[in-house]
Amino acid sequence: MSSAGRVFRGCDDLGRDVGTHDEFWARVARGAKRADGKPLWYTKGIEYWDEVTADVDGVLGGFGHVSGADARDNAKLLRDVLGDTLEARRASGEKTAALDCGAGVGRVTGTFLIEHFDEVDLVEPCGHFLSAAKADAQVCGDNREDGHRAVNFFKEPLEEFKPEKGRYDVVWIQWCVGHLTDDDLVAFLRRCKEGLKPGGLIILKENNTASGFVLDLEDSSITRSHDYFLYIIEKAGMTCVEHRLQTGFPPELFQVRMYAIRP
Ligand code: SAH
Repeated sequence: MSSAGRVFRGCDDLGRDVGTHDEFWARVARGAKRADGKPLWYTKGIEYWDEVTADVDGVLGGFGHVSGADARDNAKLLRDVLGDTLEARRASGEKTAALDCGAGVGRVTGTFLIEHFDEVDLVEPCGHFLSAAKADAQVCGDNREDGHRAVNFFKEPLEEFKPEKGRYDVVWIQWCVGHLTDDDLVAFLRRCKEGLKPGGLIILKENNTASGFVLDLEDSSITRSHDYFLYIIEKAGMTCVEHRLQTGFPPELFQVRMYAIRP
């Protein structure tokens, strides 16, 4: 189905209607702005995370214990959608590289990406998270026999970040794009395309609400539904080649879905 004319209704976490996605983002855009012209929406998100303890339990909102199941399903998806490509690269002696977006304390890198890629770069706007990532031997890849390393730690928000051209096999974006407006998310996905090697993929892994979207007033983010994510991917002019649900998480959490996106 075409994405044109799709409407997603939102409510806040107290159940109050906040209008359609277009009305909601238009209100955010019309609202208070920072000196650089970006909406105050973004400042509120960063202010929230600046107060959160820089550890795995902090970035996962007290659900640090799901990190193992998360890493396991990540590895399976990577193998299924990109295993052959990565093997061919290695066979030809080429280095592989991944970008960990909204990396927090480097949890996704340390538990998963560093196992699979020669080089991993992290991009994260909160300084105390990025410092914790840099100080973590597992994230950095210290003393690994395979020589895999975290190479670059970029302190920037995704709405401003521009990946280096043609550097990455995978751009991994997990649990952070609820902070981005639709327009900034679409624009970021398009910039990711430039950052990919031929045959590379974007993997997006996010919570799904049952329909429309839910606004989180505390951390200034939204949770999009599955249809809403498909709409965003289509709006970016890209193809979702595979999507699947995370398994083995506690039932009180949102459904979590992984999208493999070909630009
Ligand atoms: N992806 C990591 C961290 C999840 S917590 C993991 O799965 O462990 C959410 C992260 O999004 C935090 O690190 C927060 O600082 C980051 N974040 C908030 N606003 C952001 C923005 N505008 N751009 C990129 N990351 C953002």
